[in-house]
Amino acid sequence: MTSHAGELPRLDMYIGGEWVKPASDEYFETVDPFTARPWAMVARGGAADADRAIQAAHKAFKEGPWGKMHPSERGKLIYRLGQLIEEHADALAEIEVRDNGRLLAEMQHQIRYIPKWFYYYAGLADKIEGVVHPCDKPALSFSRPEPLGVCVGIVPWNAPLLLLSLKAAPALAAGNTIVMKPAEHTSATALKLMELVEAAGFPPGVINVVTGFGKEAGEPLVTHPLTRHLGFTGSTATGAYLYSLAAKDVKRASLELGGKSPNIVFSDADIDNAVRGVVGGIFGAVGQTCIAGSRLLVQRGIHDQFVDKLAAFSKSARIGNPRDITTQIGPIANRMQYDKVLGYIDIARQEGAELVLGGKRPDIAECAEGFFIEPTIFTGVNNEMRIAREEVFGPVLSTIIFDEMEEAVEIANDSEFGLAAGVWTANMRQALRMSEMLEAGSVWVNTYRDISYTTPFGGYKKSGIGRENGVEGIREYLQTKAVWLSTAEEIDNPFVIG
Ligand code: NAD
Repeated sequence: MTSHAGELPRLDMYIGGEWVKPASDEYFETVDPFTARPWAMVARGGAADADRAIQAAHKAFKEGPWGKMHPSERGKLIYRLGQLIEEHADALAEIEVRDNGRLLAEMQHQIRYIPKWFYYYAGLADKIEGVVHPCDKPALSFSRPEPLGVCVGIVPWNAPLLLLSLKAAPALAAGNTIVMKPAEHTSATALKLMELVEAAGFPPGVINVVTGFGKEAGEPLVTHPLTRHLGFTGSTATGAYLYSLAAKDVKRASLELGGKSPNIVFSDADIDNAVRGVVGGIFGAVGQTCIAGSRLLVQRGIHDQFVDKLAAFSKSARIGNPRDITTQIGPIANRMQYDKVLGYIDIARQEGAELVLGGKRPDIAECAEGFFIEPTIFTGVNNEMRIAREEVFGPVLSTIIFDEMEEAVEIANDSEFGLAAGVWTANMRQALRMSEMLEAGSVWVNTYRDISYTTPFGGYKKSGIGRENGVEGIREYLQTKAVWLSTAEEIDNPFVIG
C-alpha cells in the first residue's frame, strides 16, 4: 500500500488485486486538519486508472470465481471482512482522524459499528429469493433477482469508511463487483480497507479503489460503458450532475445528498433531553453530517429559556486536539470547508440574524493552527434567509420561532431538501401527526442522528434517490429477471389471433 519518497509516505491504489501507481505517476498531499500540514501523498488517479479498475471489476464479475460462487460462499468472505475491520478498528480510526479531523473517540465508536453492515449483508447474501407469479398463461413464470455488474461507489470526506461500507456491503452481497472512489481529502482508510480485503481472500477485481479528484478520477468511473450502477454520497450539485451522466447511458443510480434538516422542539418536550439532542444534531461531527439538524424550530413559549440552556451547554464543550479522548469538538475537515463555514457566518450576520454563541476561531492555544470554529448559534432567523435555506455543513445552528404545529410543519417542509427531521414532544399524538406530515426520509422523535444497518436511510426531494441499509438497501443492487417456462403442449399458430 505504502512506499516512501522523501519524507511523506505514498499511498498507491488497489486495482485488480494489486497495488498500483497512477498512470500519471503524480501524487497529491493529504492534510491533517488538526495541524493543517500534509501527512501523506495520495495517488492522483485519472481516466486510464479508472478504466483499468472498471475492466478489472468487469472481468471479476464475468470471468472470475466471484460470479460462480454460491451466495453463501460470498457471504462468508463478506463476513470475514467485517471481522477484520473489527480487529483493526482502532488502527482504522487513527487513520480516519488524521485525514478528516473527526474525534478519535467518535471514530473508534463509528468504526467498531461498521462491521455490523458486513455481518448483516453477509447473512442476507443467501436469502435473496425470487417469486413464483400466479400466471394467467399456460406457463410457469417466476422472477429471479440478479446482480447488476460493476458498481461504482463515490463518497465525501466526512465519514469515508462508513459511507463506503454502506455501499460495498450490499453491492457485494447482491453478487456485484465494485470500484470505490473516496474523497480527495480522505483516501487513506479506503486503502487500509483494501489490505483487509486482501487478507480476507477476495478474488482479484471484486473490490477496487481508485483515488484522486472528482472530475479526473470519479467522472470516468461514472461514464465508463461497463459501469452499471452509481452509488453516490455527496453534495446535491455533484449528485445531480452525475445523475445526468448516468442517465445518458441509462445506468442505475442511488444518491445520498445534502440536507437542511429541522429539529423541532415543542413546549411540552423534556427540555434537557431536547437540548442534548439539538446539540448532538448540529455540533456532533462539527456539523459536518448530511443529517445535521441545522434549523432549530422552537415553540415561542420556551424559546428564551431553551436558547439559554442550549448556549450554556454548547459553551461547555471542550474544543481541541481530536486525538485527545476528552475532546468534544474537533476541527473542520479541510481548509475549503473552513472558509465556506466562516463565509456563511458572515452571511447570517449581514442578513440580520443575531449571534448568541461562537462565530469564530476559539481562543485556545492548541487550536491556533487547525481549522477550528466554535459552536455557533444564531437566533432571530427566518426561513427565507440563506442561513436557513442552504447547507452550511459546519457547526452553525439557525433558530426559528413557531407558534402552532401546522406552522412548524410548514416551515420545516419549506426546503428543497428532505433528508431528516427531529421532533421533541411528550405528546404521542403530536409526534405521530408530525411524522406523517414532515417531508423527510428519516423522522426522529425524542432522539436524533440514529442510523442503523437495519433501517432504510435516504432522502426526500433534493436529498436523494434510493435507500441504503436494511433489506431495501440490497434491492438497489439487484435487477429482476422474469423467466417464463411454457406448460402448453402445443404452441398457438401465431397467424390465428384470439
Ligand atoms: P462533493 O459532492 O463535492 O464530493 C463528494 C464526492 O464526489 C467526492 O469523492 C468527490 O471527489 C466526488 N466528485 C466531485 N465531483 C465529481 C465529478 N464531477 N465526478 C465524479 N465524482 C465527483 O461533496 P463534499 O463537499 O465532499 O461532501 C459534502 C456533501 O456530502 C454535503 O452536501 C453533505 O450533505 C453530503 N453528504 C450526504 C450524505 C447522505 O447520506 N445523504 C452523507 C454525508 C455527506
